[in-house]
This record gives sequence, C-alpha cells and structure tokens, in this order.
Amino acid sequence: MKLYNSYSQKVEELKPIEPGKVSMYVCGPTVYNYPHVGNARPIVVFDTLKKALEAQGLEVTYVSNYTDVDDKIINTAIEQNVSEKEITDKYIKAYAQTRADLHADQPNVTPRVTETMDQVIAFIQKLIDLGAAYQVGGDVYFRVNADQAYGELSHQNMEDLMVGARIDENTKKENPLDFTLWKATDKGIQWDTPWSKGRPGWHTECVVMIQDVFKKPLIDIHGGGLDLKFPHHENEIAQCEIVNHTHLANLWIHNGMINIDNKKMSKSIGNVRWAKDLIAQFGGNEIRWILISTHYRAPLNLNEETFQQAEKELTRIQTAYNQACVKLQMADAQDSYTVNEESWNAFIAALNDDLNTPNAISTIFELMKQLNQALRKRDIDTDLVGSLKTTMEKMLYVLGIEFEPVVVSSEDKEMYKKWREAVKEKNFDVADQYRHTLQEKGIL
Ligand SMILES: [Zn+2]
Repeated sequence: MKLYNSYSQKVEELKPIEPGKVSMYVCGPTVYNYPHVGNARPIVVFDTLKKALEAQGLEVTYVSNYTDVDDKIINTAIEQNVSEKEITDKYIKAYAQTRADLHADQPNVTPRVTETMDQVIAFIQKLIDLGAAYQVGGDVYFRVNADQAYGELSHQNMEDLMVGARIDENTKKENPLDFTLWKATDKGIQWDTPWSKGRPGWHTECVVMIQDVFKKPLIDIHGGGLDLKFPHHENEIAQCEIVNHTHLANLWIHNGMINIDNKKMSKSIGNVRWAKDLIAQFGGNEIRWILISTHYRAPLNLNEETFQQAEKELTRIQTAYNQACVKLQMADAQDSYTVNEESWNAFIAALNDDLNTPNAISTIFELMKQLNQALRKRDIDTDLVGSLKTTMEKMLYVLGIEFEPVVVSSEDKEMYKKWREAVKEKNFDVADQYRHTLQEKGIL
C-alpha cells in the first residue's frame, strides 16, 4: 500500500518494520464532551485503513489513546460539580459507542493518561537528564533548541516559527517555542513529582503511550487530524528524537478537516454537529459513507446535498444487494461463492493508492452495474450473481458499510411465485397486490 507521508511530503510504500505486521497509533480525543463529526472522521478513516490492510493479510495493531487529564476536563467537572473521572468515563463510553455505531472496530489498546503517569514522569525526567528539558519553578519545559531538526514534520524552520510564536512578556521560558512538559497546579487532579504537584502537558502523553504499548522506538503509522500536525505531532517527534533518535513513525498520516456549509465547524459559530445526532438522524452507514466519499486528505464539506447524495447512492447499492439476496434464495442457491477477482483487485488497487476511497466506491458501482445486469435476466446465473454479491459484501465490509441480508421465508417464496404467475397471466390487479406486499417486505 502507498500512503502520503506528511513527513516526507511524498506518497510512499508502506514497508512494515516487522514483516506481515503493522503498528498504527492514532491520536485520540480529550474526553470532556461527545464526539462531533470532526472527531468521527479519523475514527472512520483509520478504521478503513486498518480494514484495507487486514483484507490483504496484514496483522494490524491499532492503538488510540484517551486524553483524560486536561484543563477542559477539570473545568467541566467543576462546572457540573462531579469528579473528573465521572466526566472522562462518560465520554470515553460515548466515544466507544460512536465507534460501534459507525461500524469501526475498537482499537486493540486504548491507553489513558491517568494510567500511564509513572511512565510519563520518568520520561520527563529523562528529557531533563539529557539536557532537553528544564525546570522553572514547578513547571518543566522542553527546550526546542535541543532538537536540531525541530520543524521537520511541519516543514518550517526555527526562524519562521519564531515569527509566528506568541511572545509572552511574563514567560520564564528560554524560547517562546519551548512547550510545557509538566505544569504545577493546585486545581483538579494532580500527581506528586520532584518538580511540583501538577499534571503533564499534552504533547508528552502520546509519545510515552506509544513507547509503553508498542515497546519500540519506531512504529509504522502515526495518524491524526491535520490540525494536530503542528505543534502536537512536531512536539511528539522532537521528544522522540532526543530520547530514541527516531522520528517516531515511518509514515505520518493526516486526515483533512470538516466544514459545515463551507464554514469551519466551531463552538463560537454554533455549527457543531454531534456524531450521535447525525447517526440517529441518518444512520451509521450513511454517515460513514459520507466520510469515505471524499479522499481522506481533502477537506470535507457537509451540507444538505451531501446527505441526500449519500442516501441516494447507498439506496442504489442496497437495492441491488437485496435483489441478489432474494433472487438467490428464490433459486434455492448455495451459500458460498468465489470472489470476482477482477472487481476485488480493482477495489484493493484503489485503496492501495493512498487509501483512495472515492475510487474504491467507484469499483463498487461498477460491480453493482454488473450485478443489476445479471439480475435482469429471466433465469439468473446463480454462480455469477452469487459471486458478485459475495464480492460486494467483502468490499462493503472493508468500507464499514453493513447491510442486513434479506431473509426470504417460505411464505414469501410462495407469494413471489404467485406474483410471477399473476404477471404471466396478465392478472394485473392481483399482481399489483402481491407486488405491493413484497415491496413492503423488501423482497422486490
Ligand atoms: Zn497525540
């Protein structure tokens, strides 16, 4: 598979460090609210990537964290007069539910910061020992000058970054770009350390959790939203360069952002769309379809039309699929068929081309056309229909689209026969009644 690597700014072949196995880490959410549709995009993108790799026989270890220590969590807990853990448990559950509703696998490991604190503290100490971090009062900062290559991911040099940096007159930092590793605080959850009672900075958590789970200095894929590239991922790399002399992952993959009616989604505009509301209104299939209909690196704009289009497309595919289910059962056909190699290979080739899901979807439409043609024949070729249907199921599984197969009862079969007879005898009133009932049952 070839993927666009933000680090090299090139499309590169994925070469697993351990043959046959892929290690993948995706930055997870800070859990103080429900996931919005912007959070749903990496869930779907990286689950599709995982399934595409698995479909080709690779074993993927997929890790995504929960940031359960943060000012926003502490403030939400204070506002609602509950513990931080009540807040984080609630929204971690909500995330797992949204994943399930979008037909995404739960990651193999979902580390939490609160459960990784010993390692976080030891890691910060190591950075201090190596001269890449310094203490000011109870706070600890990373010294970006310690990393000669700082800016390597976002392709900015130190001078450019300094121009954009916020210069805080009161700061005790050596360099405005230095970032917080440890923050002294007396508000909210705190841990005891040699520096102060406090909590860790966000950028350290992911590096430590990656090391802690994978037990190696370099993984295959590190993913996340484009908004995390700088400074979050840049800072992850900087710390890893100091401690392990690697840039943490061979491939840095970033998904694009979501706009609502061509406007950036933000709380201040009031246009935040919660994933759970959209799923309740349109269903998991439709939301997932929308999220994969645009290439993962491109911005995705949601509007009325997007939803209508997705519904139309999915209905066309589902109708063909249902018809294949029904006709095969009517013909008392067998249960398993071979995959149509040509269609399947075209589908996989699209996914292997930088996870080109829009092109993969086109191959499903191609297959659907063939299936519809085969279904229009008076006496269907069950081997052909069965093979196309099996291939379609396999493709839809990789894209995370789930259709409930239509089950035809013996009564339904009886009615179907009667309908065909009535049509044959030109007894159209009776045929219409049968047709109506069969349509209601989803058989026609
Ligand atoms: Zn992260």
